[in-house]
Amino acid sequence: MTSEERIELANLLFPNIKNETKYYEDKYPERKLPEGAMVTRYGPSPTGFVHLGNLLSAFADMVYSKQTNGKFFLRIEDTDQKRMIDGGIENIVGVLHDFDILPNEGYSFDGEYGPYRQSERTEIYQTYVKDLIIRGLAYPCFMTEEEIANIKEEQEINKTKIGIYGVYAVDRDLSLDEVKEHLNNKDEYVIRLKSPGNAKNEIEIVDCIKGKLKFPEHDVDTILLKKDGTPTYHFAHAIDDHLMHTTHVIRGDEWVSSLPLHIQLFEVLGFTPVKYAHIAPITIKDAETGNIRKISKRKDPWFGVKYYDENGIPIEALHLYLATITNTNFEEWYLANPDKNISDFEFSFDKQAIGGTSFDEAKLVNLCKTYFSHKPAKDIFEETLKWALKHDEEYAKLLEENKEDMIKFLNIEKDGPRPRKDIAKYSDVKEEFSYAIDSLFEKENYSKNESEKTYDTDLIIDYVNNYLELDRDNETWFNTVREFAIKNGYASSPKEYKAAPDSFKGHVGDICEAIRVMITGRLKSPDLYSIMKILGKDRILKRIDMYKNL
Ligand code: GLU
Repeated sequence: MTSEERIELANLLFPNIKNETKYYEDKYPERKLPEGAMVTRYGPSPTGFVHLGNLLSAFADMVYSKQTNGKFFLRIEDTDQKRMIDGGIENIVGVLHDFDILPNEGYSFDGEYGPYRQSERTEIYQTYVKDLIIRGLAYPCFMTEEEIANIKEEQEINKTKIGIYGVYAVDRDLSLDEVKEHLNNKDEYVIRLKSPGNAKNEIEIVDCIKGKLKFPEHDVDTILLKKDGTPTYHFAHAIDDHLMHTTHVIRGDEWVSSLPLHIQLFEVLGFTPVKYAHIAPITIKDAETGNIRKISKRKDPWFGVKYYDENGIPIEALHLYLATITNTNFEEWYLANPDKNISDFEFSFDKQAIGGTSFDEAKLVNLCKTYFSHKPAKDIFEETLKWALKHDEEYAKLLEENKEDMIKFLNIEKDGPRPRKDIAKYSDVKEEFSYAIDSLFEKENYSKNESEKTYDTDLIIDYVNNYLELDRDNETWFNTVREFAIKNGYASSPKEYKAAPDSFKGHVGDICEAIRVMITGRLKSPDLYSIMKILGKDRILKRIDMYKNL
């Protein structure tokens, strides 16, 4: 076709497209950002399920843009209407809010580079396609599905690459008259790229995470616009990331194989290429087989993001976990600097595991415990309450009624270099502090203690009535227990007892154990004297009585 014919063809195919590409180039100028600023984007397709892998890439988008004073935006990639589900978009936006992974701009956020929903950008895509047609770099292809299926079958038999390229690209060189005839016949068509590539050439692409990658050059006439005039993912990606001035495309590595096409699209369109960072999927060690396998929606409850909210894993702790997956050196840094914020850490693509990371629940739990151990009791209380209001209303009510006590309990052994590390999630508070609220402390609590022993209640009642004073320091208090122990035939230390077990009923530790079991229902608890101080004598005696009447 001559250039005049191509212009005629373009106008025939896109009569409603009046703007030229320059209009959009001017409308979306370069961003004014400091040198080195990264512009990242999260481009989910609203297909329903938001999983940990999605959060991970959005998290990476956020931290890299933040640390370079760049921008992070949300783009809804809804070009495949068949895969959309009702409420899918609201769900994505809700998850970003719930998990505090907030873009600076984008769909449902502000921004000057929108619309940020691909289904609202059809005119933009068509403008660029029209331009490619005028330049002879794209063409309408009228092949039927049957024709394409036959080609595929032939390619499969011949074990050659699947797709429309070379001799298979029969509509590449249709004359204007032939196209007009198809159009008159109302034949359906797609717009294909007239790929300038040659698969015999090798190209090298540097991925920020994976390093140098080699591929044969792309030579397939990939579809740019589908029959309904909407773009394919590939084309929309090139147009959007160009016009929105993305600098780094951070995405799942299922897209690595499309890189040669994407690079070619940027070239053909005359765009400056973006940088790519492909994240490998999160895997897991299968509990049954011990093998590393892909995560599964069905087998791995933690894969869906709901899990974190329902179980009460704090958002900040989940961020810490996402940070450990993002950079292999993060965990060590955080455990050495637990008082610092994630934003104090410098993320870098070189520290990202190339082969992906296995989900490690123990690591998540440990990070959560470290996180809680450094949180002031009051904050733990408020956050637990907020969580309980959503997931356990009855407990929320009790927390509100017992606020003062609860904060005191949560505050036990918080100071000092090794703060208590017993809570990993909000739902643990109820369990770990089951003795803190009278109405929750019931007979069943005793059945949970792992001790088989029965303890002498009269002895402990005597101790509480006649020896216990609740305004002492810990050491003075312990001395009175020791005195009481000796007076009642118990050794003053485990060591003394071990040297002559027949001469004693037990040792001072056994008395503490008896008190602990009676008032907390547990063999292990935070500092006993602190618990007694908060409970006060009356409640202590009531509990001993409860124990007595088991
Ligand atoms: N819409 C694509 C997906 O959900 C996003 C890929 C990308 O980030 O470019 O897989």
